[in-house]
Amino acid sequence: MSTESKATLEKLVALCKRRGFVYQSAEIYGGLNGVYDFGYLGTLVKQNLRAVWLTAMNSCKGDMLQLEGSLLGSRAVWEASGHIQNFHDPMVDCLQCKHRYRADDIDLNKPCPHCGNKNWTEIREFNMMFKTYVGATAEQGSEAYLRPETAQAIFINFKNVISTNRVKIPFGIAQIGKAFRNEITPKQFLFRMREFEQMEMEWFCKGETAEKDFEYWCEQRHNFYAILGLTMSRIRMRPHAKDELAHYSKACTDVEYQFPFGWKELEGIAYRGDFDLSQHTKFSGKDLAVFDEETKTSYMPHVVECSVGADRLFLTLLFDSYDEDVVEGETRIVLRFNPAVAPIKAAFLPLTKKQSDATEKIYTAIKQTGLVVDFDESGSIGKRYRRQDEIGTPLCFTYDFESETDNAVTVRNRDTTKQERISIDKVESYLQDFFTKK
Ligand SMILES: [Zn+2]
Repeated sequence: MSTESKATLEKLVALCKRRGFVYQSAEIYGGLNGVYDFGYLGTLVKQNLRAVWLTAMNSCKGDMLQLEGSLLGSRAVWEASGHIQNFHDPMVDCLQCKHRYRADDIDLNKPCPHCGNKNWTEIREFNMMFKTYVGATAEQGSEAYLRPETAQAIFINFKNVISTNRVKIPFGIAQIGKAFRNEITPKQFLFRMREFEQMEMEWFCKGETAEKDFEYWCEQRHNFYAILGLTMSRIRMRPHAKDELAHYSKACTDVEYQFPFGWKELEGIAYRGDFDLSQHTKFSGKDLAVFDEETKTSYMPHVVECSVGADRLFLTLLFDSYDEDVVEGETRIVLRFNPAVAPIKAAFLPLTKKQSDATEKIYTAIKQTGLVVDFDESGSIGKRYRRQDEIGTPLCFTYDFESETDNAVTVRNRDTTKQERISIDKVESYLQDFFTKK
């Protein structure tokens, strides 16, 4: 693969809509800004991404548990975590056209980029959490918030998890789920959304080993992107400078990806000290320290956090796999997905409609093995290949005039476009080999 990306944000947005990966939410009503729905192919890719992430988590050293926390969180949780007080973005409005900006996104010495006037409000702090009320009363006691991150559910359940599972420190708790941030200016499609999905893991360890564990996780997470098949020259690890760190954080490294709009954070790996469990101990009055049988003392576990946005990763994957090349004198768009994350694993194509019944029989047999496959009989064979290339289907099986007599089909490889003839009774094992090898 070339190192220069042929993808642009515009091309990806158009492709996602054209092929049903992603739709603007509430599009028929004019759309809800910063919120998206995933169509059939997008849903499949996200399922595959979650699976690859979980496999990577489960194959780490030590125990890895999982949790599915609630999306609504009581006010008390976000007070303890600091989100009520600190989860702000600076906001500024144009008094002329009422456009709203993040104050750190624009130059206030210059006119409004939208209307060209220079008439700004004061900069105000805007809390990015979505607030609501639980039950029929709107009193402070019933205040709840849609979670702005998944991590707190792990911290507040720490005692529950420890007392109901046979785990010893160090161990991790992984969680995949939605989070919500009322971004002032959502942008770049799936890059910054108001409703998004996080894949987070909190690693609980002793303070003495924490720095080593942090290094371990940086290495693990770097490997993850290689396993996923991303172009590693577009991935870099960026350790934060001391003045970038939160006051409690002891170290933090971002995994960055080189998007067409610059190097941007893809994942954050943070050594958070014992801040999280200490805060919840202080605010809840419940001691979250653990007892060490060896030294007969209790201590507060330290935490290493790995946090990546599933939607941002999805966008990254699209940027990374998008390619255009020329096949038989025709330019094609091809998503060179790692087969493990490709939404459709194989397509079954009758050369003409006369071969449809026979082709569908093979398709149905493979579908019943649980593999996500497609059957397509409409349009010329070249057109159907292009269609499958554009959604990243690794293999196409074509049943033609000779298939009836030689009991074989042609299998075409997405990346090489090379074709080979294989016996119909070998199709299932061919697929098995192909997807376990990769
Ligand atoms: Zn304006």
